[in-house]
Amino acid sequence: MAFTLPDLPYSHNALEPNIDAKTMEIHHGKHHNGYTNKLNAAIEGTDLAGKSIEEILTNVSKHGNGVRNNGGGFYNHGLFWSVMSPKGGGNPSGDIGEAINKAFGSFDAFKEKFSAAAKTRFGSGWAWLIVKSDGSLAVTSTPNQDNPLMDVADDKGTPILGLDVWEHAYYLNYQNRRPDYVSAFFNVINWEEVSKRFAAAK
Ligand code: MN
Repeated sequence: MAFTLPDLPYSHNALEPNIDAKTMEIHHGKHHNGYTNKLNAAIEGTDLAGKSIEEILTNVSKHGNGVRNNGGGFYNHGLFWSVMSPKGGGNPSGDIGEAINKAFGSFDAFKEKFSAAAKTRFGSGWAWLIVKSDGSLAVTSTPNQDNPLMDVADDKGTPILGLDVWEHAYYLNYQNRRPDYVSAFFNVINWEEVSKRFAAAK
């Protein structure tokens, strides 16, 4: 059973002006599709074929770089599309809102910490909000296509929000202005989806 590129849950231009249509088209249709195809090529005929992506990633240190990079890329982008929405933005409410206040002091304090993680990740990588094994929330970041599910991650946990800070995610519209892209991301965060992921992870 091969992995399949998931459809975008909205049209390419749905997140404008925060993320432009051309970037979404290339990012999903070329980059995410490429990770998916290369992951399938890397696991074809091995004992990883048929395993879930989570199972593969949690033991990723046992596999080659092709599985690490493309398995991460496959998983990370699927999460990324789902945690954005044209109806997103605003402040989280309910359990996730309360958990964020408890962990970081306030939503603004969380926003500052998450943004700092995204802006200071050198080179290519991701910023994350994760649920740790004790159920608490933490902000972390990973290089390349690594993620906090991986046994190689410094801070392990279940990611419930992720932001791609590779230049391919923002360069067409924002060029070198990564901080503006990070700021715009908060206008499209799908807190309903983050809340569902939080409920499933804790
Ligand atoms: Mn990407």
